[in-house]
Amino acid sequence: MPGVYLSYPFCAQKCTYCNFASGVFPREREQRYREALEREIRVHRWEWRPETVYLGGGTPSNLEPEPLRPLLEAIPGRPWQEATMEAAPGSITAEKARAWADLGIDRVSLGVQSFVEAEIRRTGRKHTAETVVREMQILGQQGIVNCNLDLIAGLPGQSAATWRESLDWVERLAPAHVSVYMLEVDEDSRLGSEILRGGRRYGAGEIPSDDQIADFYEEAVERLAGMGIGRYEISNFARAGFDSRHNLKYWKLQPYAGFGADAHSFDGRVRRRNPESLEDYLKAAAPVEEPADPGERFYVGLRLMEGIRPTAQDGALFDGPIRRFVDAGLLETDASALRLTGRGVLLSNEVFQEFLTV
Ligand code: SF4
Repeated sequence: MPGVYLSYPFCAQKCTYCNFASGVFPREREQRYREALEREIRVHRWEWRPETVYLGGGTPSNLEPEPLRPLLEAIPGRPWQEATMEAAPGSITAEKARAWADLGIDRVSLGVQSFVEAEIRRTGRKHTAETVVREMQILGQQGIVNCNLDLIAGLPGQSAATWRESLDWVERLAPAHVSVYMLEVDEDSRLGSEILRGGRRYGAGEIPSDDQIADFYEEAVERLAGMGIGRYEISNFARAGFDSRHNLKYWKLQPYAGFGADAHSFDGRVRRRNPESLEDYLKAAAPVEEPADPGERFYVGLRLMEGIRPTAQDGALFDGPIRRFVDAGLLETDASALRLTGRGVLLSNEVFQEFLTV
């Protein structure tokens, strides 16, 4: 059963590392966006009942309950199997949490990134570790116990000691789910472009080395496993039964419908991408469509630790790269599946690249 994604690209500030099409916009545009978003959902012809809902962004948790309600009420299928709200720490109040529970939200993903104040401040965020503790309590009081905490390995000034401090906080808070992302360096974020041009703003001169970042990641894999939070996807870890049902649809190439600026949809055959910029979305520019790529099963599906089951057609198309990566110890195969090895996870971009270019 498919999922629904709602994009809400408005934030209180633009974080230095963020390469999403999100930002700070005038209030008037936010209001027009909400109207356009609701319209897009309402005119959609539902050929199936949504099973999962995901509000991402941006910072949808900044939405007050009143404007949030019509957006969620326009989506059929309630009660959904899982409905996630992405939240920036510092934006959760008891009133919002109560409204979320009432509207069917049962999972909250907190973009914590770090529990170390000096690291958080440099990214432009304002929360503290105590903010996260307090807001998880507020959510728990409303019965929302399925919480994800996001961490970024590779922030400016991060060291083995500060990374450990963040992992210690995770252990104390004992969430159901944790995502660990490695810092992405590209032109789409202020920090990324500063690093690429060799500058020092935003702490660009104090980024941990690639080896250090790989060590942080490995340490997280080990520490989280010790807490009973196992890795099920390259960046995602969960207690038994708490894998993100919505995100699993992306990795398993199941259908989903995306609404809002830069939202993607997939019906099993064709991918559709809404206009990336807010302006183009508000002008109702047409979405871009393209057929699914035969290599997707590999570079998307192999992100899952359970791996994929190659078909005869996959075998014919990708026999060369599969053999090469198995011989190099980056992929392993048995009677049931083809999956990344521990080393393959660390070099997964190289592996995926091969299936992209075949
Ligand atoms: S990281 Fe999150 S809160 Fe920060 S600018 Fe990006 S979407 Fe907004």
